[in-house]
Amino acid sequence: MAKSMTAGARADNAEGQGKMKTRAYAAAAVKQALAPFTIERRQPGPHDVLIKILFCGVCHSDIHQVRDEWGGAVFPMVPGHEIAGKVVRAGAEVKKWKEGDTVGVGCFVDSCRKCEACVAGEEQYCEPGASFTYNSHEQDGRTPTYGGYSTQITVDENYVVRIPEGMALEGAAPLLCAGITTYSPLRHFGVKAGDEVGILGLGGLGHMGVKLAKAMGARVTVLSHSPGKRDDAQRLGADDFLATRDAAVFEKNLRRFHFLLDTVSAAHDYGSYLNLVKRDGTMVLVGLPEATLLSAMTLINGRRRLAGSNIGGIRETQEMLDFCGKHGIAADVEVIPIQKIEEAYERTLRSDVRYRFVIDMASLEA
Ligand code: NAP
Ligand code: ZN
Repeated sequence: MAKSMTAGARADNAEGQGKMKTRAYAAAAVKQALAPFTIERRQPGPHDVLIKILFCGVCHSDIHQVRDEWGGAVFPMVPGHEIAGKVVRAGAEVKKWKEGDTVGVGCFVDSCRKCEACVAGEEQYCEPGASFTYNSHEQDGRTPTYGGYSTQITVDENYVVRIPEGMALEGAAPLLCAGITTYSPLRHFGVKAGDEVGILGLGGLGHMGVKLAKAMGARVTVLSHSPGKRDDAQRLGADDFLATRDAAVFEKNLRRFHFLLDTVSAAHDYGSYLNLVKRDGTMVLVGLPEATLLSAMTLINGRRRLAGSNIGGIRETQEMLDFCGKHGIAADVEVIPIQKIEEAYERTLRSDVRYRFVIDMASLEA
């Protein structure tokens, strides 16, 4: 009896040391509606922080992945990679954070830390593979990762960023993906004051692209298939608006842009937009729809460049947050309880998001 009790106590203890039951919302299988689900988070190790999640943004990538549109999805899936919250516990060796700090976690929670990309601070391009915040695995290659549609998360201190003081957390959460995904290519491709910049698609990423490019001094034009977004584009800071349902737009704006940032989530003809890029100009794809064909002709004409860009590294994410703090930039958000997630997905798919849904995680505690 005593022996078996000891064995039982040991098992409980081992579980207690290792795991914390955590409320979440998950899709059980491909295309299934999200529903309440319990996950296990690890207890913070010496280099980890435990973060109470207060808000989590809803990225179109969450929808692509729940529907397995990129292939290889891991279920059950707890989406969410725009996490804003507070440190509630810090491991003994943690140097950067203390209890009460206001922090964010973006699209990845770990990486190999050794490859060229990691050493360069571009962990998102980790060669053996970053551990993305959800629909991925920890660096052990086995433990599934679960995202921010949950009440708490344990993360290594080096994969956490500081949210500037005074920034509302619901407006800050979307910066962790939508903000960095637009900031990084604007910086990397050297957008500067006076450049003609086009932002294609006015959704979560697009509206951040407008604000950030404007703060960098560019002249910003929104290209949108939703004519009703004209006033919003102006309010967000855009200098001009092109309604892309009007075919004449493609004739009248040939070779107009130094830089075109394509955030569109659905398949479209890249070639017709490349024609709007100047000689030696660059079009960067950040939207991730299904594959489409592209004729070499549009690239050859005008020595145009077509590039892609994936989020940003930890150092650059912090730089972007500090830039936003300095310029008073945050996302325009519609805060929802998690119980409204399916409706938020439907509205996002209809391009009816103004301009990021953000989940108030208190709704999951209730
Ligand atoms: P979103 O809020 O849904 O915005 C996408 C916008 O694309 C819509 O608001 C709409 O803008 C436009 N659009 C949608 N359907 C369209 C159609 N059929 N034809 C033309 N335009 C259409 O999505 P998001 O969260 O910004 O994400 C956008 C894309 O970026 C997604 O594919 C997402 O997976 C990807 N993403 C990539 C990265 C990266 O690191 N590269 C990071 C995050 C997200 P208008 O109404 O103005 O036309
Ligand atoms: Zn995202």
